[in-house]
Amino acid sequence: MSFKEKAPARVLDTPITFLKGVGERRAEAFRRLGVLNARDLLFHIPHRYEDASTVRRINSLQIGEDATVIGTVISKGVLPTRKGLRVFQAVVQDASGLIEASWPGQPFLDRSINKGDMLLLSGTVRFFHGRQLMPREFVNLGAEDTGTAEGRVLAVYPATEGLSFKQIRGVIDKHLDALVPALEEYLPAELLRETGLPGIQDAMRRVHRPTSVAEALSGRARLAYDELLCVHLLQRRANAIARQARRGITFVNKRDLTTRLKASLPWELTGAQVRATREIVADMTSPQRMHRLLQGDVGSGKTIVALFASCLALENGYQAAVMAPTELLAEQHFRTFSTLMSPLGIEPVLVVGAMNAKARRAAAARLAEAGPVLVIGTHALVQEGTQFARLGLAVIDEQHRFGVEQRATLGTKGDAPDILLMSATPIPRSLALTLYGDLDVSVLDERPPGRQPVTTALRPESGRERVFEFVEQQLAAGRQAYVVYPLIDESDKIALKAATTAFATLAAGQFAHRRVALLHGRLSSDEKDAVMRAFRDGAVDLLVSTTVIEVGIDVANATVMVIEHPERFGLSQLHQLRGRVGRGAEESFCVLLGDVSPDAHERLRHMIETEDGFEIARADLRIRGMGDLFGERQSGLPTFKIADPVRDEELSEMARVAAERLLSADPLLGAPAHRALQRTLTTRYGRALELFRVG
Ligand code: ADP
Ligand code: MG
Repeated sequence: MSFKEKAPARVLDTPITFLKGVGERRAEAFRRLGVLNARDLLFHIPHRYEDASTVRRINSLQIGEDATVIGTVISKGVLPTRKGLRVFQAVVQDASGLIEASWPGQPFLDRSINKGDMLLLSGTVRFFHGRQLMPREFVNLGAEDTGTAEGRVLAVYPATEGLSFKQIRGVIDKHLDALVPALEEYLPAELLRETGLPGIQDAMRRVHRPTSVAEALSGRARLAYDELLCVHLLQRRANAIARQARRGITFVNKRDLTTRLKASLPWELTGAQVRATREIVADMTSPQRMHRLLQGDVGSGKTIVALFASCLALENGYQAAVMAPTELLAEQHFRTFSTLMSPLGIEPVLVVGAMNAKARRAAAARLAEAGPVLVIGTHALVQEGTQFARLGLAVIDEQHRFGVEQRATLGTKGDAPDILLMSATPIPRSLALTLYGDLDVSVLDERPPGRQPVTTALRPESGRERVFEFVEQQLAAGRQAYVVYPLIDESDKIALKAATTAFATLAAGQFAHRRVALLHGRLSSDEKDAVMRAFRDGAVDLLVSTTVIEVGIDVANATVMVIEHPERFGLSQLHQLRGRVGRGAEESFCVLLGDVSPDAHERLRHMIETEDGFEIARADLRIRGMGDLFGERQSGLPTFKIADPVRDEELSEMARVAAERLLSADPLLGAPAHRALQRTLTTRYGRALELFRVG
């Protein structure tokens, strides 16, 4: 069937495999990039542009400059250095001359860069037996001419293994003219006028086939604005539902349970905990519904603050619910709460998916009583079967791991409960507004006293053996350890294989006498929980894992974490991982292991120098933008393909104001002028439609 016979919107739904020039193998690679159909293909836009004004002639480069060049590889190889670091070097040539480029610690590049390849290189020029370029970034443009003739703009696409940027460009180029007319303008005309942004079809042509970098960027701005607008619309709508016109509960501060809880705690609250608790109590005792985010670094003690809030609800005769992203975490909270609440004579209830029918009935019966109950659970709490007789407070831990709708749903249970969201990734306020819509924020910026700092070090490949000897010493002393592998996403077969192979090697070799287990995202959630439980209960000494352990799991006996390929993680993610150790009384260690580029080294320095999550988040945002701040699999956060709310702060602010105005005039976007926008929200964000359904 040709495109012309289909309705325009349908054309964009054409699966990527049906497009000319895309075979099964390429389709698979496209899927890895998140491109499933023709629409995704259009929205797979270049992440950078180069043109004659930014690309320099090689013979004009001066020592000390930062520059971009394009040249052909005329020779290459891997050299050892005296320090044992292996260096990949390539000599590249353009019409004006040649220069040597050098990648210390990246010998593997020898496999992907070939003689005759055209490289685009950005980096600084230094003096080392002549001029040498230290690439900060490079793109392999492949073997043929790339058409960067004078004046033309080179659009560089995010690529993946088995699908080069040039192949992507070829496919997009082939289909662009047929697909673009199928794009429907969804921004209301008045917004287009006001913002001065190009129309959607125009924007799409500009990003893929620009005649100047400025033109490309104006097209990109339009697409970034769209994403930000959609996210602001969704957040505002979710918040509006959460607050709903109905007034909130006015709790009375009876100082009964809260005072007794305070008296029974084995330690004093930190100043930050006292402050946050006061802010929450003020919200809860006001007639407005509370909608507050509690931000605090790993280990800053958010749980106890949530418990105080819960006690306030309970002493007013209401139910309080705490929702955690995994069963394991829910169980952990359940234990903590059971211990802390037992002096008060309160027995919490656990609700998770894996309960048997009898336990489920018992839990349901307690929730059906109108009396005060503290319930801890997973998303099972928001499922249909769970009914609350009198829910007064909903706490959502690690809230970014929940979808917008799940968060909104817990708020619709019970009696317009007050809502407390908790997050361990500290972010600046303006970004919080983009990500979560408007809510109040409390911050725990103080660590509980008596915590051991975690000693962090970066060790090269050549030190591997010594690192694992050290791990063995810790195990011999009765401690437990983590070894973590980066997985960009769980379908990343090569990285998964690396973790699996490493596990086999460790379990059969050096640690054959230890109990070693493997944890990764391909395991079922039952299997994952079983492994984590075994580790928590001390039945496993060494846990080899991908980043799936990155939840608030608390194993005090784990004192060392080795992180492989640390350069592939964002700083905040590394910091979250590191938070898994240093939770007990023993000294703890985090070893970043591997040969990394000078740039990565510079970045990782922040991890070694500070344990302050806010400082690390700021550095992360500065260096990498918002992209990886939360790491993988954080379903609850809007994901941005094009926009970066940090770098596009101005666009984001424009979009926020527009979203506010649109929704106050037309809360469900049902007006004819807004329908196309509403449809776009649905297509892009799937279930988000729920939020815009008349209710
Ligand atoms: P997170 O903010 O990462 O959820 P937790 O609430 O799990 O942190 O607290 C981390 C640890 O610190 C827990 O073992 C908790 O008992 C302990 N803790 C919390 N507050 C204090 C305090 N004020 N003084 C001492 N220890 C505390
Ligand atoms: Mg926690």
